[in-house]
Amino acid sequence: MSNKSSKPANWKPATLAVHGHSRLPKAHFAVSTPIVQTSNFYFDSTAEVLDFMKAKSEGRTVREHEYGRYGNPTQQECERKLAAVEGAERALLFSTGMSAVIIALMAYMKRGKHIIFTGDCYRQTRDFATNLLSEFGIEVSIVEPTAEAIEKAIRPNTNIIFTESPTNPYLRVLDLVAIVKIAKKHRVMTLIDATLATPYNIKPLEMGVDIVIHSATKYLGGHNDLLAGVVLGNHKKLDTLYRMQRMIGATPGPFTCFLLERGLKTFALRMEHHNKAGLAVAKMLEAHPKIEKVWYPGLKSHPDYKVAKKQMRGLGSLVTFLVKGGDRETRKFIDSLKLFLITPSLGGSESLVTQMAVMSFFDYPEEYRQSIGMVDNLVRIALGLEDVEDLISDLKQALDRI
Ligand SMILES: *Cc1c(COP(=O)(O)O)cnc(C)c1O
Repeated sequence: MSNKSSKPANWKPATLAVHGHSRLPKAHFAVSTPIVQTSNFYFDSTAEVLDFMKAKSEGRTVREHEYGRYGNPTQQECERKLAAVEGAERALLFSTGMSAVIIALMAYMKRGKHIIFTGDCYRQTRDFATNLLSEFGIEVSIVEPTAEAIEKAIRPNTNIIFTESPTNPYLRVLDLVAIVKIAKKHRVMTLIDATLATPYNIKPLEMGVDIVIHSATKYLGGHNDLLAGVVLGNHKKLDTLYRMQRMIGATPGPFTCFLLERGLKTFALRMEHHNKAGLAVAKMLEAHPKIEKVWYPGLKSHPDYKVAKKQMRGLGSLVTFLVKGGDRETRKFIDSLKLFLITPSLGGSESLVTQMAVMSFFDYPEEYRQSIGMVDNLVRIALGLEDVEDLISDLKQALDRI
């Protein structure tokens, strides 16, 4: 241990994103985290193996690593930093956001129990909830993304509330304090997919939420160049999940962990930019004559403006809006954009645009698609790290083309 290994209590997010909790001694005195590209870790003798196994069975640690599915130094360094940034006791990494969501649900769900999901949620999470959970003998409700709707849906056998906040694409912000109160009253566990909020903008664990999940593919990685997911919480709750991680795997490789840990060094800087860009663009669009309606929780017109202001530091860089007109005008607008790449995802350096009904929900029956709000002229933009004035001019010139 170096003399710099303890964490001052008051390190701010930007510092934690660079150093994590502590400045552990690093291999070869390398400043950046080495990529330990190996599948297994050898022992010097059979005596060392025996020592290791004995220690493990007694809950002691004599050395950290034995086999890649059980952990890797690059992954561990990345998990430690993610935990520091979230203010969690522990973080567990997965190969994608979706494997983090599903394995976390599998760790805590039980046959015969009931899970409440909030609507306007990530497409694949919705599909898992509606199509697959019943196969495991689990009851599911998908409710409006509000604390009141959640409370109404509680049944005697409810054991999990799974929410997202902000939701996607309508960016509904849930009152986490109210939800935790309801959950405590009914002895229900709370899991939140806080991908869109990030630990920069909200700290659900401090509000009493049990488990936080992020798709690290988005803001945490931040460069549109990796897939990963992370689950965070206290040691006791994550123990169950750790056993599943060891069993199932679905962990990111060392190179992905390196990229993620590297991306985190600029996390706080990037989030400041994303928060500013989101608000500036949302305001511009709301005042624009070719725009019918804008959803951004930093605007007074958003239904959750008040709770967002109270519970969140910033609102990120997703902006959702209706272009005046229909499918033709919307596509003309999107095709006229010069800076925005047509692709889903968010939170990276490049600005992205999607026509939700086509990109994410094309295979849903028309009526169902309409019922969940995926209308033809609905557009979601994810602002990147480009200059905000350039982004605004690009959006304006494309709107002029309609
Ligand atoms: C992208 C995303 C996921 C899925 O993450 P992957 O890394 O793509 O598997 C889950 N939830 C939310 C809110 C997301 O935005």
